[in-house]
Amino acid sequence: MAKIFCIANQKGGVGKTTTAVNLAAGLARIGQRVLVVDLDPQGNATMGSGVDKRTLEHSVYEVLLEAVSVAEARVHAEKAGYDVLGANRELSGAEVELVGVERRQDRLRGALAACDADYDFVLVDCPPSLSLLTLNGMCAAHGVVVPMQCEYFALEGLTDLVNTIKQIHASLNPRLQIIGLLRVMFDPRMTLQQQVSEQLKVHFGDKVFDSVIPRNVRLAEAPSYGQPGVVFDPAAKGAQAYVEFAQELVKRCAKR
Ligand code: ADP
Ligand code: MG
Repeated sequence: MAKIFCIANQKGGVGKTTTAVNLAAGLARIGQRVLVVDLDPQGNATMGSGVDKRTLEHSVYEVLLEAVSVAEARVHAEKAGYDVLGANRELSGAEVELVGVERRQDRLRGALAACDADYDFVLVDCPPSLSLLTLNGMCAAHGVVVPMQCEYFALEGLTDLVNTIKQIHASLNPRLQIIGLLRVMFDPRMTLQQQVSEQLKVHFGDKVFDSVIPRNVRLAEAPSYGQPGVVFDPAAKGAQAYVEFAQELVKRCAKR
């Protein structure tokens, strides 16, 4: 059975998409079958996987409207080494079109059920909001991976996200849990980042992943080449950290 994880944080620019595509590439590299679902109308995970969002034949939008199946809409990202259910601007219309539809938060769950046997991991890259799109991701998922920067307001924002996840767990998706918090864009020279990192461990204990993703310019450059950093420059510190994270995640999943 595929493990379905949302990569979520209601803040923008915190490294969700970078985590989705690099974790996917890291998992693929260690032999896992992976699908990345792009749930952000910006389509960054699609482009960052080397799939052109402007020429998609079908997208996650049509899947949410039940016009096509995941099997019909997914494409294989050759270089990245995994499948992509892509998104583009069309997706921003889904919210409105699904108004009044019963169980509209369950569309993605239903669609993914049909291709469950095809994958070891499904990673859902969420938009920076707690919208119907993110709700679809969370209702389809077993867990949430939360990338975060160790900044002053990070813990505050986290409380909202944790409460949202608790609510969804209680009302809509009892299997949903926080898989872990991933420290990204980490700079160990910054005292503040170290302090926030320590606080995180005090509050969340072993929910904080051991792996830490450093700030690394190669990770930021990779999308303009249509590749995850793990593929673009495997020797870079950031790429290696994501492969380590992929290994840690597989180990954690085996323990459950
Ligand atoms: P989100 O999806 O949460 O909006 P992104 O993954 O798009 O965030 O990241 C925001 C910006 O930060 C992007 O320009 C990305 O390339 C850059 N970035 C993300 N992670 C790192 C990192 N570890 N080191 C350097 N730059 C990073
Ligand atoms: Mg993003």
